[in-house]
Amino acid sequence: TTILAIESSCDETSAAVISNGQLRSNIVATQLIHQKYGGVVPELASRAHQQHILPVVEKALKDAKVSKKDLNAIAFTRGPGLLGALLVGASFAKALALGLDIPLIEVNHMQAHVLAHFIEEPRPAFPFLCLTVSGGHTQIVLVRGPLEMEVIGETQDDAVGEAFDKTAKLLNLPYPGGPLVDQYAQKGNPSAFPFPISEMPGLHFSFSGIKTSVLYFLQSRTKEDPRFVEENIADICAGVQHTLIKMLLQKLRKAAKQTGISDIAIAGGVSANSGLRKSLREMGEKDGWNVYIPRFEYCTDNAGMIAMAAHFKFQQKQFAEQTISPMPRMAI
Ligand code: ATP
Ligand code: MG
Ligand code: FE
Repeated sequence: TTILAIESSCDETSAAVISNGQLRSNIVATQLIHQKYGGVVPELASRAHQQHILPVVEKALKDAKVSKKDLNAIAFTRGPGLLGALLVGASFAKALALGLDIPLIEVNHMQAHVLAHFIEEPRPAFPFLCLTVSGGHTQIVLVRGPLEMEVIGETQDDAVGEAFDKTAKLLNLPYPGGPLVDQYAQKGNPSAFPFPISEMPGLHFSFSGIKTSVLYFLQSRTKEDPRFVEENIADICAGVQHTLIKMLLQKLRKAAKQTGISDIAIAGGVSANSGLRKSLREMGEKDGWNVYIPRFEYCTDNAGMIAMAAHFKFQQKQFAEQTISPMPRMAI
């Protein structure tokens, strides 16, 4: 079985080919146009998807050495994401499936982030916990089976990726700032400037408070010394990152204790963060967990993970109708 998968939920246009569960290509075109606006501009994202989708799909087919007539299904991201962006991928997938007279498969982007773990070894065993941390979501997911997932804790306001990006913005770093905060943090002292932890009930998170603390902290320090940010950027990044990771891992440890599950995975764009990867490994060693951390390219948005999810859906003959429409807000 060979499936072509398309991802267009936000600002990467991506296509991948999977054969019998084996990923054969994964092409990602990241839209750089949003950088000068300091965030994703939905209208520009849709237009860029329209420009990139055909070349990206053709490259994915070519790299996989597959022609359109070899395909058994077309998969696409149905949601969650930006409506206009999702529409481009959905329309393209529908038209292609109709033209080739093959089934259509709709994929939930957040399920796919979790299923990125099945692209290569070591694959986690069920049930496992997945901390999904991205630009729009922060969730602890109890994964019982490939298509059987339950969110047992999540953010009540901002996503942790947003906290990274907004901190970066306050530090005048270009969008998306998460990776830059990571780079500076590696050179800084995490205890030089401590930031408060937001306490939340159960397994829930809150990340809007830290953004405000960073804002007030920077305002007062820059008033005293206009060069404060310039001179202390590594320590500031290290302090913020340390706090965010602490909030994430505290709840993950709590979830592991509550469920008695010790197979622990992370997924989503923020799982590319080097500090989080390191701290999770350390906590895993202490607590006796089997820890699963995907390769960088499978952490951020990519169609490879959509293809993986589609592989499982094809096995269960979960196909979509031609009348299906995107769902910008879609639960797991
Ligand atoms: P969602 O998956 O919730 O719809 P999204 O698709 O925009 O959101 P991803 O592409 O999975 O999110 O992740 C992007 C986020 O990951 C951005 O907020 C970005 O700053 C963050 N990110 C990427 N690399 C790093 C890193 N090394 N450290 C911290 N954050 C990072
Ligand atoms: Mg993105
Ligand atoms: Fe994503």
